[in-house]
Amino acid sequence: MTGTVYKSTGSWYQVKSDEGKFYQCRIKGKFRIKGIKSTNPVAVGDRVEFKLENASEEEETGVITGIKDRENYIIRKSVNLSKQTHIIASNIDQAFLLVTLNNPPTFTTFIDRFLVTAEAYGIKAILLFNKIDTYNDDELTEIKYMAAMYRGIGYECLGISAKTGKNIDKVMDLMKNKTSMISGHSGTGKSTLINAIEPTLDLKTKKISEQHKQGQHTTTFAEMYDLDFGARIIDTPGIKGFGVVDIEKEELGDYFPEFFARKQDCKFNNCLHVDEPQCAVKDALEAGEIPWSRYKSYLQILKGEEDQHYRIDNYE
Ligand code: GDP
Ligand code: ZN
Repeated sequence: MTGTVYKSTGSWYQVKSDEGKFYQCRIKGKFRIKGIKSTNPVAVGDRVEFKLENASEEEETGVITGIKDRENYIIRKSVNLSKQTHIIASNIDQAFLLVTLNNPPTFTTFIDRFLVTAEAYGIKAILLFNKIDTYNDDELTEIKYMAAMYRGIGYECLGISAKTGKNIDKVMDLMKNKTSMISGHSGTGKSTLINAIEPTLDLKTKKISEQHKQGQHTTTFAEMYDLDFGARIIDTPGIKGFGVVDIEKEELGDYFPEFFARKQDCKFNNCLHVDEPQCAVKDALEAGEIPWSRYKSYLQILKGEEDQHYRIDNYE
């Protein structure tokens, strides 16, 4: 049988068959996937082959016998010395980032780090500017400027209000028949948005009750949920963005689409767009074709600096 992994607890995997029924599955013996060394061989989102163990028992259990190639996956590195890789989730169609101007502020450097990671992972990113019901004219101007800038690079942007319901139908259209992640700083409205889309799916309450059950030594695992209107979301508790991704200095510019598009016109093919002569990216920057905020984010990541909270201030 073929199915999709919805939940993993380390030793058991909840698999939904393509026919729509859930099975508790495990892995027998040695089971490793070529290419990736990770602490977990099977992750939420994986498409798996499995066979039933005890079809006679009430709770049907199965054994996973194979995994299909992943379209993408996001990882976490453990903090201990072994630095082992843990696959958080796989086969993600798109990731929404909730952006708020204030309460809390979401800075362009944070947005750009998120977009870079999405590019590196091969996941489509969409920006949702939430809480538009709360902004005054100046703030709306700033939001519009930011949205226009990111649209210009090729990212889809949408102004929404999870509270009043503004454009929530459009978010649902984007989510339909896809597997999505919803990211953003704490307080940007992730729970409110999910609640606006599907009031019966209360992830916050779920999390609290689960923590209560398992005590304080909980490792929170990713989990996939079906939404009634035909969409799936992957919840990754405690992970604001995407986890980590290792990017070489030379490839960082490739994850800024507007830099990548101009790279072939740089004099050096390994140009870092910093102080090399005849750099097409810097020329475009001087000509106003590349936003300064994007270049600042690029330099910050390139130099390995912590997020400096850069905010557009000369947007008029
Ligand atoms: P989370 O931490 O990302 O899950 O954020 P929450 O969903 O808990 O929202 C944080 C706060 O912002 C709550 O008080 C929400 O009621 C409020 N909030 C969320 N979305 C909106 C919105 O679109 N407009 C307004 N005015 N408040 C919102
Ligand atoms: Zn260059």
